[in-house]
Amino acid sequence: MGEPTDFGRPASAILRVLDALPGSARLTLGELATQLLPAWQAELDRLVARAGAMDEVPTCRRGCAACCRHPVPLAIPEAFMLARMAAGLPAAHRERVLDAFEQARSRLDAAGLSGTALLSSVHAYRAASIDCPFLEHEQCAIHEWRPGACREHLALSAPARCAEEGDGADLLGFPLRIGEYFAAMAARLLGGAPVAIALVDMLDWCAGRADGEALRSWTVAELRAHSVRVLGVPAPD
Ligand code: SF4
Repeated sequence: MGEPTDFGRPASAILRVLDALPGSARLTLGELATQLLPAWQAELDRLVARAGAMDEVPTCRRGCAACCRHPVPLAIPEAFMLARMAAGLPAAHRERVLDAFEQARSRLDAAGLSGTALLSSVHAYRAASIDCPFLEHEQCAIHEWRPGACREHLALSAPARCAEEGDGADLLGFPLRIGEYFAAMAARLLGGAPVAIALVDMLDWCAGRADGEALRSWTVAELRAHSVRVLGVPAPD
């Protein structure tokens, strides 16, 4: 997978979602992620089916959490979406999630992992074997809203390879990764370079921006115009 002719269709899938919305409607970055992720899943399903026709069949199955003790990078729109979602959970579930974030952070601190080391020290992070705070009974509690890095971590090798501390699994390649699109959009709209936030750091990172960047919004027409630039493809007919 990944030949240049593949690129246009996934990019068009993003633009089609924006085309279906009123151009004057305003979206925050978190709302952009909320709008796009379900449609992106349909596009991933199409690409996975096509790979399957070429005997590249992912071994990932619901209930397999072999990749849920990895450092998960989020783009800013995904972080804002998940922080808002966590804040809106029923009280008991929210307490459970907040407690899981606390526990994960204290175990990471004990392992000497913090700041940029959370995403750059992949081996040490995996060795610490820390559950993702959204992992409950070996299931993703936010399956519908899991970030692009999780959706696109589709292994062709055995699940045990995902859990290894080394380079791990053979992964299916994709012509476009939604997290990279989100990161590039946030950089264009907020200024600065593309940012990757460790999922376990997400709540702290977003808390300082809850009344600022998280609330900034753009019209769908503006988001579409920026998307065309970020994706580098012409609009579909
Ligand atoms: S968000 Fe869900 S799929 Fe991703 S690492 Fe966490 S539990 Fe696993």
